[in-house]
Amino acid sequence: MGKENEKTKSLEERVKLTGKLVWDRYDEAQVKQAFAFAEGYKGFLDEAKTEREAVDAIVKSAQKAGFCAYSQKGKDKRIYRLNKDKSIGLATVGKQPLEKGLRIIVSHVDSPRLDLKQNPLYEELDMVLLRTHYYGGIKKYQWVAQPLAMHGIIVKTDGKKVKIVIGEREGDPVFTICDLLPHLSRKAQEEKKLKEAIEAEKLTILAGHLPFADREAKERVKLRILELLHEQYGIVEEDFLSAELELVPASKARDVGFDRAFVASYGQDDRVCSYASLKAMEGVDAPPFTTMALFLDKEEVGSEGNTGAKSRFLELFTADILRAAGKEPSDVLMKEILFNAKAISADGTAGIDPNYKDVHEAQNNAKIGYGVCLSKFTGAGGKYFSSDASAEYVGEIRELFNRKGITWQMGELGKVDEGGGGTVAKYLALYGMDIIDCGTPMLSMHSPFEVASKGDIYETFRAYRAFLEEG
Ligand code: MN
Ligand code: MN
Repeated sequence: MGKENEKTKSLEERVKLTGKLVWDRYDEAQVKQAFAFAEGYKGFLDEAKTEREAVDAIVKSAQKAGFCAYSQKGKDKRIYRLNKDKSIGLATVGKQPLEKGLRIIVSHVDSPRLDLKQNPLYEELDMVLLRTHYYGGIKKYQWVAQPLAMHGIIVKTDGKKVKIVIGEREGDPVFTICDLLPHLSRKAQEEKKLKEAIEAEKLTILAGHLPFADREAKERVKLRILELLHEQYGIVEEDFLSAELELVPASKARDVGFDRAFVASYGQDDRVCSYASLKAMEGVDAPPFTTMALFLDKEEVGSEGNTGAKSRFLELFTADILRAAGKEPSDVLMKEILFNAKAISADGTAGIDPNYKDVHEAQNNAKIGYGVCLSKFTGAGGKYFSSDASAEYVGEIRELFNRKGITWQMGELGKVDEGGGGTVAKYLALYGMDIIDCGTPMLSMHSPFEVASKGDIYETFRAYRAFLEEG
C-alpha cells in the first residue's frame, strides 16, 4: 500500500462511522457461544408462547438462579414479584445504596395473537367454529390456513382454574382458520385491499364436526363438543365467559438457512429481549448498582391495564427492593430513586428487509447482523408519542458498549412518515429516569414466524449484561 493510501485508511478508521458485521468480529469460539445461546432461547420460545407462560418460565428459571418471591420479612438479595401472573419483576440488590442508582431493563412478554371471544362457540353447516378477536398488530392474512394451538386458562364459577394447552404435543389436534380457495376468491378477496381481504369477523377457528347421537337435538355438533369439554375439563359453556384463551401458531422455533444463522419463531417480539434480559439478570449476581428486570404485559395494545407499563407495578416493586435492602420505602425516597434510575427499554425493532428497502432509510435503520439496535427515540411522524433519550444518556450507553466490545448500531423504525411504532419507554420516562430503546432487529416482525440473526440475539444479551454489570 502506498503512503497516501495508508494515510487515507488511517484517517477513515479514525473519523468515519462504519457499521460492523457481528460475524466479522467473532472468533470461532464466539460463534459457538452465540449458537449455544440460541439453543436456550429456542427452548424458551417453545415453552413461553403467551404472557402467562412466559411469566411461569421466567419464575422457574429465576428460582434456579437464586431469586425468591419477595417476603416482607427477609433481607433477600435476589427477589421477584408477580403481577397477576401476567407480568413480573426481578431484582438483585447491588453493592451501592439504592439512592446511588438503579438499573432497569424492561421488556414485554405479550405478542400479537388471536383471542377467543368471551362467547365463542357456534355451529354452522354441521361444523363447530369459535369466534375470535385479534390482539395487537396482526396482518390478518397471515393467520389463515395455518396450524394453530390454543393456550390459556378457564376460570370456573367455583374459582378453580383450568389450564389449557392444545396443539403443542406430538399427536395433539390443532386448530385452523380456513381460507377461501383461489377458484372462488377473485371478488371476495383478491380485488380487495390486502387489509380488507380477510375480515376480522371471518377469523373463526374450526373446532369440531361430530354430531351428538340424538338426531332430535338442536345444534348437535355444538352439543357434542360441549359434552366433550365437560367430560375432559369439567367446564360448561358459561365458563368461556371467564376464560382467556389465545390462539397462537402451533409451530416450534426453528433454525433458518443452510448455515443455521437465524432463529425463526412466533413471539420473538419481544421474547428475544425478555430472554436476553432474564439471562443477563441471572448471570450478574453482585452488581455495583441494584438491578431490575421488568417483564410486562399489554405492550402490543398500548401498555394499558393493570399488567402493562402504565400500571403502577414498578412503584410497588421498587418498595419491595427498598425493604429488601433494609430501608423504609417512603414515597419521596421512591420517587428520588426512580428519578435517578437508568433504564433500557428492551424491545425488538425492524431490520431492513431486502425486498422492501423502500420503506427504510438505510443510513438510519437497523441492519440484520450489525448487532443490538439502539433507538434514541421511537414514535411516529414528527417524533410524536416518543420518549427521546438525551444526547448525554446516549453518550453514556455508547461509551459503555464500545468499552465492552458490544456490536451495536443506532436505528430508527423505517423512513420518516412511513409508519412508526412506540414502546414502553415513554411510560417509564414519566418518573424522570433516563431510558433508551435497545433491542434486536428482526425480519417479518409481528408475523407468526419472525426472524432474527443469532449474532444480533447474542449481542442483545451481551449488551444487557454489560449494562447490568456496570451501566
Ligand atoms: Mn415489542
Ligand atoms: Mn410489537
